[in-house]
Amino acid sequence: MVLGILKEQNFRRVSVTPSAAKKLGSMGINAIAESSAGENAGIKDQNYIENGIKIGTRQEVIAHSDIIVSICPVSDEEMMMMKKGAIYISMFAPYQNQEVVSHLANFNLNVVSMDMIPRTTLAQSMDILSSMASLSGYKAVLKAADHFNNMFPMMMTAAGTIPPTKLMVLGAGVAGLQAIATAKRLGAVVEAFDTRAAAKEEVMSLGAAFVEVEGASDDKGAGGYAVQQSEEYLSRQRALVQEKAMKSNIVIATAQVRGRKAPLLITEDTINNMKPGSVIVDLAASTGGNCAYTENNKTIIKNGVIIIGNSDLADELSGVSSNLFSNNIMNFLQIVVKEGVATLDMDNEIIKSALISKAN
Ligand code: NAD
Repeated sequence: MVLGILKEQNFRRVSVTPSAAKKLGSMGINAIAESSAGENAGIKDQNYIENGIKIGTRQEVIAHSDIIVSICPVSDEEMMMMKKGAIYISMFAPYQNQEVVSHLANFNLNVVSMDMIPRTTLAQSMDILSSMASLSGYKAVLKAADHFNNMFPMMMTAAGTIPPTKLMVLGAGVAGLQAIATAKRLGAVVEAFDTRAAAKEEVMSLGAAFVEVEGASDDKGAGGYAVQQSEEYLSRQRALVQEKAMKSNIVIATAQVRGRKAPLLITEDTINNMKPGSVIVDLAASTGGNCAYTENNKTIIKNGVIIIGNSDLADELSGVSSNLFSNNIMNFLQIVVKEGVATLDMDNEIIKSALISKAN
């Protein structure tokens, strides 16, 4: 059984790192990586070779592997070149791109979309969304600090007292909680919004204030996810966000509802009322953004407010994000491959959720 590791065309990360070699060996898998697959994550071809992973051309990896892994899905032409019946593991985001599933049926592949792994305790070690979100939350705060014309901690100097930065987090999920922890470590005063009742305790345990908007829809049946809120709720929330944003220096926006456009929480009017020099990092940019002006993968300035739209800041931490991604993939493979044989057991909830197209 051969596992192929492709070089990413749009990311710095690589999906499987040399550190996976031991686990691959224990599953009876031989691996081949595309030449220079890890170079943007600080991994040389030699590192793969030293760990028993072969190096080949892109064509060789695609044509000869039984399991192929990439973070970003490859082109249709390349999927056509894969072995019929092979397992192709990537991130297809079918919630955002619903036609993708019927389209994939053309390639006679078993397609696994890692972003469809259920968010259960059992699947936690394979949860790519969580591992990447956590890194993005951390990096969002560093990025905001870098664009901010002031510093985070309160400081008394001979030349005067510097007040602490006020930082607001919208959405205290995986990314938001990591942003709170990072901002607190840097000395900011932090407050956070979320619609899920469970978030309050988590926010407060990190030493931040929780801002409550009464009347959120019940999310108990949503498996840990947020549910869509009424327009009336969102309108009250936007008013409170505006009140808080006017006093904040930095906003880290992460609020999302799976399968839907991100809720609009920072309006044009809010931006017009914020202090010039404030920074917004919108991690919800790829699903429409929490800020009215957000442009995905762009940094813009409106009314002196710097608005950074980027949902994939984990890619800027390509070393650690490659290792975590690789660990998530290995943990998934351990439920699929035994002694060099892959079995896609549809009675297994994790496999059933993640397998978005089946070979015929
Ligand atoms: P996400 O990226 O879909 O959303 C980010 C946050 O935005 C969520 O906390 C959500 O409640 C919040 N949000 C949505 N609408 C909002 C609004 N109008 N205002 C403010 N906040 C809003 O979610 P996520 O971070 O991937 O996961 C959310 C939660 O799911 C986690 O905190 C965790 O409790 C749970 N989870 C559990 C597991 C597991 O058990 N394996 C794995 C991942 C996540």
